[in-house]
Amino acid sequence: MRYISTRGNMLPKAFSEVVLSGLSSDGGLAIPESYPKISKSELEEWRNLNYPDLAFKIISKFVDDIPVTDLRGIIDQTYTSEAFHNDEITPLKTLEPGIHILGLSNGPTLAFKDIAMQFLGNLFEYVLARSGKELNILGATSGDTGSSAEYAMKGKDGIRIFMLSPHGKMTAFQTAQMFSLQDPNIFNISIRGVFDDCQDIVKVVSNDSEFKEKNHIGTVNSINWARIVAQVVYYFKGYFAATSSNNQEVSFAVPSGNFGNICAGHVAFMMGLPIKKLILATNENDVLHEFFSTGCYRPRSAEETSHTSSPSMDISKASNFERFIFDMTSRDAEKIRKLWKEVDNNRPFDISGTLLWEKIRKSHIISGTSNHKTRIETIREIHRKYGVLVDPHTADGLKVGLNYREKDIPLICLETALPAKFSESIVEAIGAEPSRPDGYDNLEGLPQHFVEMDADAAEIKDFISSNI
Ligand SMILES: *Cc1c(COP(=O)(O)O)cnc(C)c1O
Repeated sequence: MRYISTRGNMLPKAFSEVVLSGLSSDGGLAIPESYPKISKSELEEWRNLNYPDLAFKIISKFVDDIPVTDLRGIIDQTYTSEAFHNDEITPLKTLEPGIHILGLSNGPTLAFKDIAMQFLGNLFEYVLARSGKELNILGATSGDTGSSAEYAMKGKDGIRIFMLSPHGKMTAFQTAQMFSLQDPNIFNISIRGVFDDCQDIVKVVSNDSEFKEKNHIGTVNSINWARIVAQVVYYFKGYFAATSSNNQEVSFAVPSGNFGNICAGHVAFMMGLPIKKLILATNENDVLHEFFSTGCYRPRSAEETSHTSSPSMDISKASNFERFIFDMTSRDAEKIRKLWKEVDNNRPFDISGTLLWEKIRKSHIISGTSNHKTRIETIREIHRKYGVLVDPHTADGLKVGLNYREKDIPLICLETALPAKFSESIVEAIGAEPSRPDGYDNLEGLPQHFVEMDADAAEIKDFISSNI
């Protein structure tokens, strides 16, 4: 299995190579030369596998430059009931016949990103050890990604992580989760500024290729192909859990931001998993819903991006979206270069009235949007009707998913975080605090480790070089 770029100007590369490098050199995203197709008999054989066995079957289809026993080891080390507090790893909860929630948030930071990030941590450690290299990860976070990355990379050989976050702007829970880590390879840098300042610093440093090379700087952002592959697994797992035969179809409702989660669903669809629809849910930042309802993709400015009560979906553009459009153009890299020339310059593209738009309109993805009012109502209603408490992001998915639900097609809503992380919205919805899983009770009381710095890229660079 070789990987090419959506922009067509990268020599085919092996899995380990695309996993360590971020964007392709031509600005595109890495994607497999073709998708492995799952036969009927394979699907039958996979139905009763446990999570690590299934993960191995699926991930090994995308990886051919790691010996199978090593890959198996990385997967077994990742998907344990200790790390995910559950033997099923991604347990399915049935609200009523035909309506399910797939629990993806039982990992260390209580959000779905752990499923891919925990795998990435072990994979990075392995690949780096093999090549004798080291990696210094620089990232910016407003909450979920940063903590998920830190919990995946803490204590790993050959890896350090420098995570910028806006000082005083994360929730107390998120702050405590990150800052209470004591591992010497974790550097929390609290920036006097907002999230955009943090992101700008990462951009400045990433554009300094000399500094980057000298200091082995890398990223763990959502375009990383290994993250997508790891997420493909739970679409299969959820499908098997919600059906009794492979002749059935299901639909998935996916709370979406950067299109990473739903991109994995698209890959599962392309591999032949019987998916009827992937139902994409946005919050008030509805760039993607706007596209799927009009054919116009209009990235937003920072000023046009609002801070909502489902903050992990507050995006101005959706980085993984390029992979889906690439497939829908039947992999026309020239077309992608043309469209993304606009996007990269913060201009919209409009494909309405074209054959491409007709194809996308009839495709396996449909979309809808949710807002603060519907989100809170959904949390309240699901709690009242089923006695189940969901977080604000999952509520957005449920709201849109239930809206588009088809009779006789089971609906699987992906749970992307636990309510414990977002107590403010939960209190607003049901008038009570969400409970916390064991071991998280005293989180805010633990000693916190961080340095506070100005939003100054030069100072951050000095800090990195003097700590590696
Ligand atoms: C990251 C995240 C999302 C959005 O996922 P994408 O892969 O960016 O579409 C949704 N919900 C939660 C809780 C998240 O952390």
